[in-house]
This record gives sequence, C-alpha cells and structure tokens, in this order.
Amino acid sequence: GRRRTKLDRSYNGPPRQGPVRHISPAQLNLERVYEQNRINIQKKDATKAPEPAPGPAAKGKPRLLLMGQRRSGKSSISSVVFHKMPPNETLFLESTARIQKDSMHSFMDFQVWDLPGQLDFMDPSFDLDAIFCEIGALIWVIDAQDDYIEAINRLNSTILNLQPSYQNVNIEVFIHKVDGLSDDYKLDIQRDIMQRIQDELSDHGVENAPITFHLTSIYNHSIFEAFSKVIQKLIPHLATLEALLNDLCRSCRFEKAYLFDVLSKIYIATDSSPVDMPSYEICSDYIDVIVDVSEIYGWERPKEYIEFLEGPPWNKKLDDQVACKNAESVIVLTDMKRPIMLREVNQYLALVAIMCEGSHEKMPSVTMNVEATVTGLSEVFEITKHRK
Ligand code: GDP
Repeated sequence: GRRRTKLDRSYNGPPRQGPVRHISPAQLNLERVYEQNRINIQKKDATKAPEPAPGPAAKGKPRLLLMGQRRSGKSSISSVVFHKMPPNETLFLESTARIQKDSMHSFMDFQVWDLPGQLDFMDPSFDLDAIFCEIGALIWVIDAQDDYIEAINRLNSTILNLQPSYQNVNIEVFIHKVDGLSDDYKLDIQRDIMQRIQDELSDHGVENAPITFHLTSIYNHSIFEAFSKVIQKLIPHLATLEALLNDLCRSCRFEKAYLFDVLSKIYIATDSSPVDMPSYEICSDYIDVIVDVSEIYGWERPKEYIEFLEGPPWNKKLDDQVACKNAESVIVLTDMKRPIMLREVNQYLALVAIMCEGSHEKMPSVTMNVEATVTGLSEVFEITKHRK
C-alpha cells in the first residue's frame, strides 16, 4: 500500500534544514484528495458531485474536521455554529455529499466531511497523511436518536486505522440530537457507546486512545460548549491565556471573563471560575448586539484586517475620522444589574466579561486593566504565530 508515515512526531531535536515552504504539503494534499474524491463521485453520479475544493487552510489555525454519517447533523451543526441559522430551520437543509469550509472569518479552520461510502479508509491507495497530518481534532457526529451501530462500526475502524500513525489526533465524539431525551437515557446511551468503542479497540490491542465524548444538541448551548472544550485542547498557550483572564477578574472584580471567537461564539479560553450557561448565553448574545451595531456605525479597519474579512464582523467602511482603534462597549441591563463589557482583541477574537454590580463607576481603572490584558493576550498569539 501507499500508506506512509512521514510525520515523525517524536522528533524534538533542532529544526531540520530544508527548503523554505510557504504552503505546507499537507494542505496541498488535502485539496488533492478532495479533488480525486469529487471526480470519482461525479463519475458515478453527476448530480451528487460536491462543490470544487475550498482553498487551503489558513496558516496556523487549529483545524477541526467534522465527520459522521449522512443525516447525523453535520450541516446543521455548521450552519448553527458558523452561520447563525436558527436550529428549527435546519429541518429544511439539503444533505449532500460535500466538504464544506465555513471558517474563513473564524479563529479556527473548520471543515465538514460527509462520510458514508465516500471515503474508504481501508482502500490502500487512500492517502491518510493528506487528511490527518494537519488536523487538530476529528469530531465524529453520532445521531443518538437513530440506530447508531453502523456509525460506531465506522468510527471504530477509523480509529483503528488512525491509531498507528496519528496518535496525536484528538477524537471527539459528539453524541448528537440528545434534546428530547431524558437525562437517564442520555447517560445510558453514552455508556453504551463508550463501551462498544472501548471493547472493540481493546480487542485490537488499542488502549488509551485519546477519545472524548460530548452530549450535544443544536437546540441549546451544548453544541457551543462542546466546541469550546474541543478547541481549548488545541490552543498551545491556554494556561497563559487563562492566567491573564484570572488576573483580570481578580483586579477588576469581574465575575466571569471569556475570550470568544466572534464568528462562531465559541469561547477559546475563560477564567477558572465555573462556566454557567446563563452567563455564557448573555455574553454570546452581547457579541451579536455589538457586531450588529458596529456593522452600521463601525469605522475603517487597517488593510491587513480586511484581507481576512471581506465582510468584517466588526464594522464597515465609514468616512468619519478614526475615533478609536478597537471596538469596545459596556452595557448595564436593568434586570441583571451587573454590567457586561466587550473589547475587541483582534480580527477573530473578543474579550467579554460580566462585571460586578456598581463597578461601572470605576470604568477608568477597569479600562486600563482590560487594555493591559488585551496587550497580553495579543502577545501570546504573536508567540504562537512565530513558533509555527
Ligand atoms: P448531515 O447529513 O450530517 O449534514 O445532517 P443534517 O445537518 O442535514 O441534519 C439531518 C437532520 O437532523 C435535519 O433534519 C436536522 O434538523 C436534524 N438535526 C440536526 N441536529 C439536531 C439536533 O441537535 N437535534 C435534533 N432533534 N435534530 C437535529
């Protein structure tokens, strides 16, 4: 077979000498595999051919690959998370074979692959390196409201194929559509699925594969919560980001601080106090408000910003003189009493925090601390960028 293992993850000596490459070969391969695949499908049935391949992944972004059987909910997940589609409208989504790329304006690189029949891992001519060497996490969606035996069999064979060479790819199982199931039933299903996977893997001598399970639904925030957990594992300096947010909460007496990916409303870091859904939801809704307002009243961005964002989430061009560099805002909701603040960090990220009651009177010092935190956060991302 042509299956190769050119990726040597155990190597940690000095950087190897070699020609300077601007696009990684893995990115090119991914496109190539996709193209091959597309042509094959087209040959079989022209009406089912997916769209031409999307461009290569943006440099340095953590890559998430969403897989699962048809109708398991992948398009719905990507539409709800990346396109603000109301969950009810996913009922009318057309489910077709495709790789979707939805994350141009997001901090992460996110792709959806429809699996059944389309990609055959057992086929020895299938170039696994091309797909998996750059992936941070493989998210496998299982429909909990349907018969999931076939989905599990496929997942098992995928894991067994990946294990020898790609032990660092996190496998994240989304046990999906759990809305409408009782808590007991949810846990039963989870236990059953975990057991079936574990049994199969240990039969093949695979122990401790990096598999995590999440119960998800597009009808509540569980899908965002699951993505946050998935993405946090892929962030190189997460502990530093968390420490910065902890310091900010302590110095400003904030109740909770989140670093959000603006487009998807997935948080990529938070302080160490427990996450509660109401606070998460209000921060996430607040981003929508500010993005909407800045679409109307925004100011011109530097050119390098616009390159990433054809329709910047923050704002559009205005002729007025530039009033201030980044979007920032504080609001006090009457029924909540505590102010919420938002500060733009970069073209993808925003810091959103719930302050404590009355603290908007101390805004000057809060603003100073927030400023220092944003500088710190930006430096962390600079380090990450240069390391790549
Ligand atoms: P795909 O083929 O994997 O892309 O699946 P779709 O995204 O087309 O979803 C198939 C069906 O599942 C659609 O009718 C969705 O409305 C439904 N669906 C997706 N997610 C959920 C969920 O979390 N809960 C429920 N109840 N239905 C869902």
